[in-house]
Amino acid sequence: MPFGYHGCYLRIDASNGTVERLPIAETVLRQFIGGSGLGVRLLLDDGCADLDALHPRAPLIFAFSPLVGSSLTTSAKFAVVSKSPLTDRVNDALASSGFAVAGKNCGCDAIVIVGRAPELSVLIIDDGEVRLESAADVAGMTCQDTGARLRTRLGAPFRIAAIGPAGEKGVRYASISHDGRHAGRGGSGAVMGAKNIKAIAVRGTHRVEWAHPRDMTAISKDLSQRSFGPATAKYRELGTAGNLLTFNRFGALPTRNFQSGEFADAENLSVEQLSATREKTRDSCVACTIGCEHIYTIGGPHLRHGYGGHAGSGGGVRVEYESLFALGSLCGIGDADVVLRAVRRCDELGIDTISTGGTIAFAMECVERGWLDGPWLTFGSGGALLRAIELIGSREGLGDLLAEGSRRAAHAIGHGSIAIAPQVKGLEIPGYEPRALQTMALGFAVGARGADHNRSGAYEVDFSEKVDRRNVTLDAVRHAIDTEDRAALMDSLIVCKFLRGVFEDFHDAAATMLRSVTGWDVTAAELRDIATRIVATKREFNLLAGWTQAEDTLPDRFLTTPLPEDAAAELSRERLAALVAEYHRQRRW
Ligand code: SF4
Repeated sequence: MPFGYHGCYLRIDASNGTVERLPIAETVLRQFIGGSGLGVRLLLDDGCADLDALHPRAPLIFAFSPLVGSSLTTSAKFAVVSKSPLTDRVNDALASSGFAVAGKNCGCDAIVIVGRAPELSVLIIDDGEVRLESAADVAGMTCQDTGARLRTRLGAPFRIAAIGPAGEKGVRYASISHDGRHAGRGGSGAVMGAKNIKAIAVRGTHRVEWAHPRDMTAISKDLSQRSFGPATAKYRELGTAGNLLTFNRFGALPTRNFQSGEFADAENLSVEQLSATREKTRDSCVACTIGCEHIYTIGGPHLRHGYGGHAGSGGGVRVEYESLFALGSLCGIGDADVVLRAVRRCDELGIDTISTGGTIAFAMECVERGWLDGPWLTFGSGGALLRAIELIGSREGLGDLLAEGSRRAAHAIGHGSIAIAPQVKGLEIPGYEPRALQTMALGFAVGARGADHNRSGAYEVDFSEKVDRRNVTLDAVRHAIDTEDRAALMDSLIVCKFLRGVFEDFHDAAATMLRSVTGWDVTAAELRDIATRIVATKREFNLLAGWTQAEDTLPDRFLTTPLPEDAAAELSRERLAALVAEYHRQRRW
């Protein structure tokens, strides 16, 4: 067994609580590393690609990485891999913190869960011993309350990943939460709910050994030192929400269901405004020296407006750009208190903020066009936003339709509404206007899990001198491929993407890290091949699940209508098709 690994995974059948400890060959570990890469390999090997994502036999995989438990900054992360109930394609979602360390210390490199428990259960993995306990006392509870209740019940050393009420109800974009961090995108929470598992609790004592601990300590110190420097200052000082006004200036802030790239009330949602009007604290994931999390208090007595009342007033909310855009500008909401309350309610219910905002904004436009009956659901109405979130979480009334995501909702609504459903392969588009950021448009179109800014960093190319972002040519394709490959590698090692700016040569630095941990004579060139292999393996799963190249596109809106404020930001169907074809040519697919 190589250093940094246990060389095995647990395969647990939730139907009866049985567990097998199965070996993972060193060649597989070296070819896929861990995290997303290892998880996708195990998913493919399970032969489940043609099963419905919510079928009991479809696996839900928690994959750890060789760096977890080391002193390397930002490495305490894990990947959750499954078939997505939203896209019916591969899904890999990452989350952070103590669950990653405790899960790996259970003596395994991954946990594969199949089957369906006979009643709502807590899956407990205690130093590798597995049992199921009733979750009756936490049924219907929020993710946060579930974690707190189970820590009291089981003891503080246990780390808990839980679903909220939305995961229990099978909302197709339900998340899995741990200590306020979320494996958010693609509906892994619904997969866990379909297995009748409310929470997974892990603790363990099986620490791995490192090949060259002294080298690793020296690398860790150097990396931590560099993580305090200018390359990460933006994340430390402002957090990701610092992007909002920049995107608005570029006409790239999606507004009112992508009808515009500029939001008149953007200033209200900016970090400058949030910082000026409310208290702020900072936090970080376990083992992180950057600390990008900015937590703002909710002020103002909004309950007086009848916004639902479930969340209460006061308290703090972790604010990310993606949540601000999806529940703010995309729904036409410029009241920061409403947006913060909406973010918190999504976190409590356990739903992805991007898909929630995208689906609600789509429904708002359908109502506006007279295609959907719901006169209360209007752009700019905070009450409507909060009401819709509640209905989605409980799958009541209109919420039952919206819980299916914008693609399925569009098929049910008809009227050609699929043209304005803001999704690719069923996954709602993040906060990057594709017409204004056309390398990112390609990244969205070809993404294995649909439109995703974490699996393609092509927006960096758009903001660089390498391309004309509103009129990209085929030269952009190799850059898009590079960012997709780098993301696959970072998600498999795993290190946080916010660290990327500190590396002069990321692949070289990653090889140095991996050598110190595993003892392998791995090189930067080998890591480039590994990244390509991981992206190809995701595609292999998708092919088996029914993918065709026709899926690698964007909704008609983006290909037929220029941005109203910027007629030059026009992405024709022909241009996107040419970019996609060149992408496939360069991938040799
Ligand atoms: S930079 Fe932010 S997201 Fe990344 S590990 Fe640190 S706190 Fe977590």
